[in-house]
Amino acid sequence: MPTRFIVVSGGVISGLGKGIFTASLAKLLQMRGYKVVPIKIDPYVNVDAGTMNPIEHGEVFVLDDGSEVDMDLGTYERFLDMNLRSENNLTTGKIYKLVIEKERKGDYLGKTVQIIPHITNEIQKWLERVAKLYRADIELIEIGGTVGDIENLIFLEATRQLALKYKVAFIHCTLVPVIKSVGEQKTKPTQQSVQRLREIGIQPDFIFCRSEKYLKEKAKKKISLFCGVKEDHIFSGPDITNIYKVPIILNKQRVAEKILKYLDLKPTRNEMGEYKKLVERFERSKKRVKIAITGKYTELHDSYVSILHAITHACMHLSLKPEIKWIETTDIENGKIRAERVLSDVNGVLVPGGFGSRGAEGKIECIRYARENNVPFLGLCFGFQLACIEFARNICKLRNANSTEIDPETKYPIIDLLPEQRKVYKKGGTMRLGGQDVIIKKGSMAYKLYGKVKIRERFRHRYEFNPEYKEIIEQGGLIFSGHDKSGEIMQILELAKHKFFIATQFHPEFTSRLMKPNPIFLGFVRAASKK
Ligand code: GLN
Repeated sequence: MPTRFIVVSGGVISGLGKGIFTASLAKLLQMRGYKVVPIKIDPYVNVDAGTMNPIEHGEVFVLDDGSEVDMDLGTYERFLDMNLRSENNLTTGKIYKLVIEKERKGDYLGKTVQIIPHITNEIQKWLERVAKLYRADIELIEIGGTVGDIENLIFLEATRQLALKYKVAFIHCTLVPVIKSVGEQKTKPTQQSVQRLREIGIQPDFIFCRSEKYLKEKAKKKISLFCGVKEDHIFSGPDITNIYKVPIILNKQRVAEKILKYLDLKPTRNEMGEYKKLVERFERSKKRVKIAITGKYTELHDSYVSILHAITHACMHLSLKPEIKWIETTDIENGKIRAERVLSDVNGVLVPGGFGSRGAEGKIECIRYARENNVPFLGLCFGFQLACIEFARNICKLRNANSTEIDPETKYPIIDLLPEQRKVYKKGGTMRLGGQDVIIKKGSMAYKLYGKVKIRERFRHRYEFNPEYKEIIEQGGLIFSGHDKSGEIMQILELAKHKFFIATQFHPEFTSRLMKPNPIFLGFVRAASKK
């Protein structure tokens, strides 16, 4: 069967939830037995997201193959329970790099290398290659940005050309605002956005409208008339509190059936039972669990999006409602707030990954509080490193112990550069990245959680626990319950006489999936709910 393509573009404003819509649609198609593969196109010139600031762009997601990608790939992995690869995230940087390298090699000798056809051909080849790689029945292509941007024009053009060879469904996502005083759903921005799409030769086959509530008949009729899209091809995306409800909302509107029909595919049986049950049970759950997340990127919650999801997944399986308390750790350092005060009402403390010195001392304070007061604690990556520092300072009496990332002159470099990182000068894609095996000590808490001695989790770091201090730290009572294959790199730590005190050098949040919550998060949230 030839692959079908679904192209999702956005209009009016960014941040409409195009990624969630596309992932939900992919999920519905997958639940109908089709083999789907998503591709996210990011029109920025960076080769990948690894060097971007999380406050500006949200979290950097890490795939098993070690690539650092846009956070939307995380949404796809979570919804579809699939391991994606670098190829599933296409950027302007990647395409130009490819074409320029080919040009230098002489692949186009004698030719003038141009945006059309050389760049657009390479984009199409990329899309075709990924479809083949996954033997996909349907490839879903989400084009980042908004129609009318200069940056994504060439990707839209490439998909327009793709439709000359394949069956393609174009879906345009827009916003239908409501002016409060009038109370009317306004369709003009959608009309104009579709006009822009037509200017570049794409007539959408479907429109997905984000709005506060479901679209009214009148608004739908107007959009249909002005945009040339059948009324029953116009879908609503009302505001919701839980994104996992989106597939259910789309299913009610028979979105998958209509698109499958358009693509000449059979609308096979829907296997939504388990999924729906889980989401609906979560909706009804009342018991709350309050988790503090300490960090310095707390102003943009998207910086920690995978952590939020991993907590939600655990809560869904335990029938709990998560409540997050954001702790800006620079405020603890400045003496504006105290750990004992701000953490007194939470059920668990989570110290996430991070870089650099700002906020680090504040995080160490939070870890001390959790350790001393028997409050469930989970440290991730930087959080693991800071937990080692806190323990070295306060239990092993290594005064001012630190990480050389924070204090290069420290007398006790408890955390130091990984040996292979000493030769690294370029910043892009050079950390210790991606999926690695972790060997777990039998009888430990980590073993109880995972139920096996070998697991695979994802990493993104340059520093590690300095093995020279292993003995002294272990004598103090800290247990290193997970390490790499060589036994050199410490990857999990825990305290025995504590309700729950675990930290990992890896990022368990990247492998948590709705239907398969990560065991570490499950254990942490369960322990927190009992406090
Ligand atoms: N900055 C630390 C390192 O590079 C931790 C990184 C992280 O938390 N992702 O090792």
